[in-house]
Amino acid sequence: MQTIEKYNFAGKKAFVRVDFNVPLDENFNITDDTRIRAALPTLKKILADGGSPIIGSHLGRPKGATDKFSLKHILGHVSKLLGVDVQFANDCMGEEAAGKSATLKPGEALLLENLRFYAEEEGKPRLAEDASEEEKAAAKKAIKESQKEFTKKLASYADCYVNDAFGTAHRAHASTALIADYFDADNKMFGYLMEKEVNAVEKVMDDINRPFTAIMGGSKVSSKIEIIENLLGKVDNLIIAGGMTYTFTKAQGGKIGNSIVENDKLDLAIELMKKAKDNNVEIVLAVDTKIADSFSNDAKTDFCKVNEIPDGWEGLDIGPETEEIFADVIKNSKTILWNGPTGVFEFENFTHGTKAVGEAVVEATKNGAFSLVGGGDSVAAVNKFGLADGVSYVSTGGGALLEAIEGKTLPGIAAIKGN
Ligand code: AMP
Repeated sequence: MQTIEKYNFAGKKAFVRVDFNVPLDENFNITDDTRIRAALPTLKKILADGGSPIIGSHLGRPKGATDKFSLKHILGHVSKLLGVDVQFANDCMGEEAAGKSATLKPGEALLLENLRFYAEEEGKPRLAEDASEEEKAAAKKAIKESQKEFTKKLASYADCYVNDAFGTAHRAHASTALIADYFDADNKMFGYLMEKEVNAVEKVMDDINRPFTAIMGGSKVSSKIEIIENLLGKVDNLIIAGGMTYTFTKAQGGKIGNSIVENDKLDLAIELMKKAKDNNVEIVLAVDTKIADSFSNDAKTDFCKVNEIPDGWEGLDIGPETEEIFADVIKNSKTILWNGPTGVFEFENFTHGTKAVGEAVVEATKNGAFSLVGGGDSVAAVNKFGLADGVSYVSTGGGALLEAIEGKTLPGIAAIKGN
C-alpha cells in the first residue's frame, strides 16, 4: 500500500479530501479549528515536497449552494495556518476549478468550494417532500449516473488522491471513497491523520495486546448493541457504565427507582450477559451508584447499592466502590477502548465517576497500555478533565469510529486499502 511518508509529491497535484467541517459563529468566525489543524501535517508535507494540494471538504449539511455553508469563510484561516496564500474555486465543478487546478504551481494550494453543494457528493437526490415513489426511484437512478461524472471530474484535477477525512470514512461518498477508483494503487493513500486513526482502530480490533478492556458508557443500550456484540468476540473485560447500567440491573431483578431504563431491552441485556459468559468475557457492572432525587445538578444526592435504588430516586453516576472495581480492571489492562461517560458528566456533581475512569485509563497508559478514546461524549469528557494528553489516542471521528468498532468495513478505508 502506498503511504504519504514514502510518496514524493514533487510536481504532482494531489486531491486531498479533508474534514474542514468546523463550527462557525453567526459572523462566520471559526469557533474551533481542531479539524483544520488536524489536516495540516498532510497538507504541509505535500507543499514541502513541491506538490500542489487541491483541497476538498464539506461544511455543514447544505441542500444546495448557499453562502452560509461556503468554504470561502475559512479560506483566510486555512491560508494562515498553512503559511501559503491558498487559492479558492467558487465552485468545485466548472471551468474555474479545472482551470485553477491545471495552472497550480508546485508549492501552491487550492481550496474547492463545498463539495456538498452538489447532491452528487453524497449520491442522494434532493427531492421535494411530496415527490412520488416513481419520481424518487427515477431521481435515485439519475443521481448515480451524474455522481459518476462528478467523481470523474474531481479526479481529473489531480495526479494522486489523499484521504485525510476520517470523520467521513464511514460514508461511500464521491470524494471520500468513489474517487479512489480513478487512481492506481501507487497514487492513492491515507493522509497522516487518517493513518493514525486507522492504526489506532487496528490496535483495538485486530492487533490486540491482552488483557483488553472496553469501557462502554453513555445513555442507552439500544445505541450500542452492535458495538457490544462485536466487542464480545474480542475483549477480555467489558465494563458497562452510564445509563445502560440500569437496564442490566433491572433485567437481573434489581430495584432501579426512576433511573433511565429501556424496558424493551431487558431480554437483550440477559442475552448479552449469557453471550459474554459463553465467550469468557468478564462483564463488569456497577455495584453502587450516586443517586439523585431529580435529574438536576442541584438535586439532593446519596449513595446506594445499584440494585436498591429507592423509589423517586435515580442513578446519575457510579459510586465509590464501583470506581475502585473499574479502576482495578482498567489498570490491569494492556489495551483499552473507552466510549461513553459513566454518568451525567454534564452536571458538575456527577462527574466523579467519569473522571475516575479517565484517570485510571491515563495510569494504565503510563504503564504501557494502549488506550483509544472515541465517539462523541467520551472525547468531550477527556477534554473536560484535561486527560487527552495522557491517553494513547483520542479519535477525531465520532460516527466513523463507532462503525469501525461495530466491526463494519468503512468505505473510505476500503477504497484505499482495496478490501
Ligand atoms: P451516548 O451519546 O450514548 O454516549 O450518551 C452520553 C450521554 O449519556 C451523556 O449525555 C450522559 O449525560 C448520559 N448519561 C450517562 N449516564 C446517565 C445516567 N445514569 N442517566 C441518564 N443519562 C446518563
